[in-house]
Amino acid sequence: KSGELAESMGFNLFLVGGIVRDMVMRIENLDVDLVVEGDGIIFAKALAEAFGGKVSPHEKYKTAVVRLPGGRRIDLATARLEYYRMPGAFPEVEESTLKLDLYRRDFTINTMAVALNPHRFGELIDFFGAQRDIREKKIRVLHSLSFVEDPSRILRAVRFEKRFNFCLGKQTVSLISSAVQAGFLRNIPGRRIFHEMRQILQEENPVRCMDRLHELKVLEAIHPDLVFDERIRESFVSVRETLFWFRLLYTHEKVRPWFLYCLALTEPMNPETVMSIAEALGLRREDAEMLLASRERVRELMKRLASLSEILPSKAFGILEDAALEEMLYAMSRSRSATFKKIFSTYVTSWRNYRPPVSGKDLLVIGFSQNPELGRCLREIRDQGLNGEIRDFAGAMDYART
Ligand code: ATP
Repeated sequence: KSGELAESMGFNLFLVGGIVRDMVMRIENLDVDLVVEGDGIIFAKALAEAFGGKVSPHEKYKTAVVRLPGGRRIDLATARLEYYRMPGAFPEVEESTLKLDLYRRDFTINTMAVALNPHRFGELIDFFGAQRDIREKKIRVLHSLSFVEDPSRILRAVRFEKRFNFCLGKQTVSLISSAVQAGFLRNIPGRRIFHEMRQILQEENPVRCMDRLHELKVLEAIHPDLVFDERIRESFVSVRETLFWFRLLYTHEKVRPWFLYCLALTEPMNPETVMSIAEALGLRREDAEMLLASRERVRELMKRLASLSEILPSKAFGILEDAALEEMLYAMSRSRSATFKKIFSTYVTSWRNYRPPVSGKDLLVIGFSQNPELGRCLREIRDQGLNGEIRDFAGAMDYART
């Protein structure tokens, strides 16, 4: 339908980028990126009108995002249609600006497009050997200045290599090495590096990406104190296992894997180093301070747990209830003892959802007044309940009366 709409407006429409790559590789991908040969913003508005969506245009870059009812998002970019007068036999030639658009992309595997206009609907366009590189399992740049143009592609290269179990092309590796040695990674805003780093930490297996970044000396080129040694690697592996365990609970709570990995990465560093790396990555001071505060809460929590002489559920609950879920999961990943692991997992799967069998209202009925006494009594009932001393409403009311 969108192809018909484009056709009626005199535009050419193409599906491009990751979704095409993933279609060819038979991997699910729901991110729709379109390129319009014509005017992406005018087309986005027409598309939104036709399907009842909302447009957020970006006039400067001639891009737009269309949000369709039901939450689907479509990204549109413009490749201008240009006509050149050519001397000789051809009076007017339509320059394929799609090709120029695709040539600006990072790796060959990301340069395919699928035509959507009705007369050529479904045609796979592959100017730069993407299908060959997918067959050969290679990540290759399109030209030798690629990493000079945009050094953040170095991180992207590693991300795709490890995600798809591909290999970097020989020349691509040597271009990465030169760019790293020349210090190009410090030529772009740190925020861009952080963005790509965060993408890596959101991958299914960031450990393999980090190994590769370490091997290619990318981390130290970003900041001399950024390391991925054996100890941090082990923390990463534990974080990954903990996240895996948590995902299988299907609680659908939002946790940010990258944040847990950042806690792991910065754990051995002193606060000054963390702030210096954060600055190099263009993080806001408040965000870096939040990371440090989380780190402190995790340390405190582990210290308090370790100091418990006997592990009563109510005592463990009292320590864990103030921690954010992400902090708790990180602490869980860090605990070596099976007993502590058990405490964390029981807290996450059961204790934190525990509701005492009586409410404040029940206590008011038997003569409690709304003062600290009521709150204290409810807390005690909760603790006794967690410890298995109070099991039901009658038991709780008896406890309250005495
Ligand atoms: P993912 O599956 O991780 O979303 P993707 O290929 O869709 O992978 P995006 O980061 O969403 O990756 O980028 C969309 C497209 O934009 C890519 O396929 C790539 O062609 C292009 N792109 C993104 N970043 C760059 C870059 N730094 N340089 C060149 N092209 C880029």
